[in-house]
Amino acid sequence: MTDTLTNSATDAATYSVAQERKIVTAIPGPISAALHERRRAVVSDGVSSMLPVYIAKANGAIVVDVDGNQFIDLGAGIGVTTIGHTETSVVAAAVEQSQDFIHTLFTVTPYEEYVRVAELLAEHTPGDFPKKSVLINSGAEAVENGVKIARKFTGRRAVAVLDHAYHGRTVLTMAMNYKAMPYATGYGPLASDVYHAPSSYPYHDGLTGAEAAARTIAYLDKVIGASDLACLVVEPIQGEGGFMVPAEGYLPALQEWCSSKGVVMIADEIQSGMARTGKYYASEHFGWIPDLVLTAKGIAGGFPLAAVTGRAEIMDASQPGGLGGTFGGNPVSCAAAIAVFDAIAAGNLLGEAQRIEKSLTAGLTALKNKYDIIGEIRGRGAMIAIELVQPGTGDTTKAPNAAAVASISTYAGQHGVLLLTAGTYGNVLRFLPSLALSDALIVDALSVIDDAMAALTAPAH
Ligand SMILES: *Cc1c(COP(=O)(O)O)cnc(C)c1O
Repeated sequence: MTDTLTNSATDAATYSVAQERKIVTAIPGPISAALHERRRAVVSDGVSSMLPVYIAKANGAIVVDVDGNQFIDLGAGIGVTTIGHTETSVVAAAVEQSQDFIHTLFTVTPYEEYVRVAELLAEHTPGDFPKKSVLINSGAEAVENGVKIARKFTGRRAVAVLDHAYHGRTVLTMAMNYKAMPYATGYGPLASDVYHAPSSYPYHDGLTGAEAAARTIAYLDKVIGASDLACLVVEPIQGEGGFMVPAEGYLPALQEWCSSKGVVMIADEIQSGMARTGKYYASEHFGWIPDLVLTAKGIAGGFPLAAVTGRAEIMDASQPGGLGGTFGGNPVSCAAAIAVFDAIAAGNLLGEAQRIEKSLTAGLTALKNKYDIIGEIRGRGAMIAIELVQPGTGDTTKAPNAAAVASISTYAGQHGVLLLTAGTYGNVLRFLPSLALSDALIVDALSVIDDAMAALTAPAH
């Protein structure tokens, strides 16, 4: 229903917060600073915050802090509020569901909303075959369940992941990440039977998809052996690793090998799924039809919900009671997810993601022509990154420039732009905005980044 989608980027009059950047205090302001003091007394130092401004309100692509500063949100809570903050139809669905009932536990007494989300996932995940789902609470929990399901189905032990991967912070998933710091350092012993295979990173390895796949498969075959390999878990576009887009043909070649060896191939679409890249799932860009797909972050407009969806025969290998959890498939989260799926279709949000890709890429290309620290612009839809290199090394060593990333993201925060960093070497700026981000806000945000780059480096020409 088009008339329920009032947060469309083209319909500014319907936002409850003006879609504009506005800085009225020092960052952080005095009220945020006082809250930060309270937090330091009671919140674990193991939990960090990129920018310690405390948020009072958020709508569309703008977040407002307790001091009245308005930020252009280029991170969307790390790719969660994909359809926009406090999107009208999501809020309405959650309120309505909360008034009906909030919890029964699907494994005690079920309800339609869970079934409807599973139907929508079966419809929109890649592949035209019978699919089933289990709903849980978080991305890491989806990864954990994907591994359990694959092990049960195959009767095999080993789990393979790719270099530069990120899969979560639980005891199993911290062993699946590429970076030890900060995710695994000091938290060992790590889970066994997890193997890290070489990935496809065209900007650095220069390999074609076929060459990169041959290298990955050689590792899986020689180091693990297919007969012990339960699953290969892959982000179609790597998230925390720095939005690496694999070379053409890489993912289908891996799937073909997995299928021929009885290995379950799992797409971790936790960051890249749910319309983020201009398709429902990023796998579709690469002609990849995974056996299992993991969904989380953007699925419910900000409510916690995650899913494992895939081939019915794999999903059904688990014994009754083997899958689930107390909050898994919470009715309010499910109602919000149904509203998100409706809004993606009604608001042409796949088209909005493509619009954002065009506008961002054009603006970033102009910056790349001006500053020689931008090595590569890559990504799809509203999942775009720039990799920063040392000045003048872009065509040669491509040496990482983490210092530039740190100062640009700090400068952006001080000037009202929330900009996330990423990358194994900390040298990637990632643009992961909500699809409500207008072209005018893109131009404004990029002007801040332009100023930040000008402040740290002399223009190349
Ligand atoms: C965020 C993320 C996870 C972990 O999700 P949580 O909800 O934080 O547990 C796993 N995989 C990818 C690709 C992610 O981006």
